[in-house]
Amino acid sequence: MRRSIATVSVPGNLREKLEAIAAAGFDGIEIFEQDFIAEAGTPAEIGAMIRDHGLSIEIFQPFRDFEGLTGARRIKAFDRAERKFDLMQELGTDLVLVCSSVAEDAVGGIDRAADDFRELGQRAAERGLRVGYEALAWGRHVNDHRDAWEVVRRADHPNVGLILDSFHTLGRKLDPETIRRIPGDRIFFVQLADAPLIEMDLLYWSRHYRNMPGEGDLDVTAFMRAVMATGYKGPVSLEIFNDQFRGGRPETVARDGHRSLTHLMDRVRRQEPGLKLDLPEMPDRITTTGVEFIEFATSATESDKLSRQLRSLGFAPVGQHRNKSVTLWQQGEIRVVINTETRGFAHDAYVTHGTSICDIGIGVSDATATQARAEALGANPFHQPVGPGETDIPAIRGVGGSVMHFIDETSDLAGVWERDFVPVSEGTDLAGAGLTRIDHLAETMAYDEMLSWTLFYTSIFDMAKAPMVDVVDPDGLVRSQAVEAEGGALRITLNGAETHRTFAGRFLADSFNSAVQHIAFACDDILSTASALAKGGFSALPIPSNYYDDLAARFDLAPGLLDRLRDNQILYDRDEHGEFFQLYSQPSADGLFYEIVERRDGYRGYGAPNAPFRIAAQKRLVRPKGVPKA
Ligand code: MG
Ligand code: MG
Repeated sequence: MRRSIATVSVPGNLREKLEAIAAAGFDGIEIFEQDFIAEAGTPAEIGAMIRDHGLSIEIFQPFRDFEGLTGARRIKAFDRAERKFDLMQELGTDLVLVCSSVAEDAVGGIDRAADDFRELGQRAAERGLRVGYEALAWGRHVNDHRDAWEVVRRADHPNVGLILDSFHTLGRKLDPETIRRIPGDRIFFVQLADAPLIEMDLLYWSRHYRNMPGEGDLDVTAFMRAVMATGYKGPVSLEIFNDQFRGGRPETVARDGHRSLTHLMDRVRRQEPGLKLDLPEMPDRITTTGVEFIEFATSATESDKLSRQLRSLGFAPVGQHRNKSVTLWQQGEIRVVINTETRGFAHDAYVTHGTSICDIGIGVSDATATQARAEALGANPFHQPVGPGETDIPAIRGVGGSVMHFIDETSDLAGVWERDFVPVSEGTDLAGAGLTRIDHLAETMAYDEMLSWTLFYTSIFDMAKAPMVDVVDPDGLVRSQAVEAEGGALRITLNGAETHRTFAGRFLADSFNSAVQHIAFACDDILSTASALAKGGFSALPIPSNYYDDLAARFDLAPGLLDRLRDNQILYDRDEHGEFFQLYSQPSADGLFYEIVERRDGYRGYGAPNAPFRIAAQKRLVRPKGVPKA
């Protein structure tokens, strides 16, 4: 299977695009006329440059407003086509994309269009070229792949074939199953794009909101299953017009594109086991069991403060690493590792971000398989020298450069705590505050990078996206989207900040793009946890009394509960399943904080209605706007 991407999908000048596309592992490109015209050099030189990058030119596009014209306009359209044919031969590509006409004076009629294409196919054949016809969702007379196929079928010329584009089919809610009736050898090219479901003008939606397969809401897998079932053997190509990508980094966009294609074809293979797809073997999406540990990078000096925070939350040290300045803290099933090494990855992370979470340990069904799948999807493996007797845990680099380790129960990896750490007696007699496990991790990133993060998690792990919610910060909007494993075994909320003036955006600026901004611990009884924490010196985030007056108006709460929530600064929410209680710590200078939650009766969310009040309270405690970080 040849993998291709349209040059328009990747930011940068043509050279930058090609470098990123080649590095990501694509075989070829769709050359967009715009990118070609903007480049200096003859068509032959540009063609050579593309091939020098190890890429083939799979198609030249677009050729517009061709079919259905009459008289002099029709003659002119064929002249224009001949000029494009000249250009294609110089560039070194044999296929042109003709999209269905939007011309005001184009006349409809399947047979008329078929006649035009038969003649165009004949002219192309004389030069050894081919013509592909694509139905634009907003085409004047042809806007449905079934009609485009009928034109191609009646044109009845071996050099004329059909081009399918998932956006045009799925965006118009056409049933992709209808593709299965088309002979695969008459499909010349397949373009893929996803998009978020937004009701808007089709053309505007297509030009600005397309995204990579798996990043949006369209069923691109169903589309591609139907395409592959036809016996199609040609290239599979991404054609993505997206405003965010235009301003992004070429390497990131190309890498995500390649990842999304691999993930998509892997889904197709699993759902259509009868098809023989030319795709390397890889493990299926990985089942996660939870967060096994989180690791803080810090210094010997700053670790005192962090230790005090952890003690105030009911944690106690339980282990000291055999060879390293690394301490293990625990409460319930929660493990927190404090790393004060003065060399290695954690130290580099500390130097870059300050005291921050540099590493997350994910519990998985099979750690080796997880690493294999992640690498098949283009993630970078992470290795660090392992000391004598130390466990070598499979690991990769996450999206923002942080590290992710994988621990499973089936190998001996889970024994790492007993093997690599010497017990510290102090831990054993501490009662704790009733924190049981990590409910969710909240990661913050620039809004433009959110799609990259969701694709990373949902392609490697068996996790699904929850709907995106808007969180109102007094100084801007933050978009929040959760990715969750079935039953909530692993939950990660991704928060995209558009401006540095929001609480989330400021965390990014102050921590130089550290990712984990808060950790939410679960407990079974929030009121008893709150009083245990208060005794241990925990300072809760103060919540204004107005919040509780409003709560009383919005919900019927059991008598006395409102006062107890108010006394303990606990926030409350309810959905159709159950109830949710949240208690927040005060934020650190960088904006890192902790949350303690209790979910009752299967509450699904994260307390989004409370977020504006929580953020306003946090902002009152951090340094005023415009005051630089000390
Ligand atoms: Mg297209
Ligand atoms: Mg939260």
